[in-house]
Amino acid sequence: ARYRTGEGWVDARLTPYAPLQMDPSAAALHYAQSIFEGLKAYAQPDGSVATFRPESNAARFARSAARLAMPAVPAEAFLTAVDALVDADRDWVPTGPDQTLYIRPYQLAVEPFLGVRPAHEYLFIVIASPAGAYFPRGVQPVSVYLSEDYIRAAPGGTGDVKCAGNYAASLLAQEQAIAAGCDQVVWLDATEKRYVEEMGGMNLFFVLGSGADAELVTPELTGTLLPGITRESLITVARELGHRVTERKITVDEWRSGVADGSITETFACGTAAVITPVGSVKARTGDFTVGEGVPGPLTMQLREHLLDVQHGRVADSHGWLHRVAPA
Ligand code: PMP
Repeated sequence: ARYRTGEGWVDARLTPYAPLQMDPSAAALHYAQSIFEGLKAYAQPDGSVATFRPESNAARFARSAARLAMPAVPAEAFLTAVDALVDADRDWVPTGPDQTLYIRPYQLAVEPFLGVRPAHEYLFIVIASPAGAYFPRGVQPVSVYLSEDYIRAAPGGTGDVKCAGNYAASLLAQEQAIAAGCDQVVWLDATEKRYVEEMGGMNLFFVLGSGADAELVTPELTGTLLPGITRESLITVARELGHRVTERKITVDEWRSGVADGSITETFACGTAAVITPVGSVKARTGDFTVGEGVPGPLTMQLREHLLDVQHGRVADSHGWLHRVAPA
């Protein structure tokens, strides 16, 4: 759909995938007035297709739009567009184990204008692509690199919304991580560079203790990390499974010493793409350390299986998280 000040949202349509035509001075190309979402559709055992918590993506999209001074496509239109695309692509929703259709709604400023101000014209687009199992050879702990040179998000910035610029700012640190032999970046807070915020495209959880008494800690939403929908779902699921979950600040020192004295037994990251990824080792200037024994921890795997079971319709959906895509 297109937006023009004075006209509102018009011209909603389903079209074959094709290149976009844009003016070379389109605002998004110069000033990154651009936001996006990521969600998945899952083939259900009864043959239907469901998306997972799409209302939460629509709500986050609206917050991202507000932060970037854009008119948000209405939540209703966001959800209708996602449904229409998934319905049209129904045959493309994979049915293999842990396979999904990844859906990418986005909105960008297309007004041709070289001054710096919010644009008056926008495009809202949804594309989708089948996604295979994230870990085709089984879940493996990843190695992470603490970003001590670059900061992803500062207080008052855009770190708690999903805008293109956040990811542009992260590329160099991700390249450093790869050069250092690691898989992913872990970001620290901008002010003290002590607190663990999040991973590249995932939120972090720490397991304190083990067995029935295990407690989960996840960095609190300070305004500089993305409120992940997987994070929120796992907080709920973990509490239902009887675990204590605390949202609070956690420093690198606490992480390192906790791992050393055995009080922190597992660390994992979570997000739409990989669901849950165990963290196995950490590279930092202040000293490298390893978490666990090179295999995913028991709570990491329990939560991972439980969430995947909900998403793939293998257990009861007690929260109404699955949204069935109705045939048009
Ligand atoms: N943090 C960042 C920076 C991300 O890009 C993502 C992926 N959207 C997440 C966390 C996880 O969010 P979600 O669980 O909603 O996918």
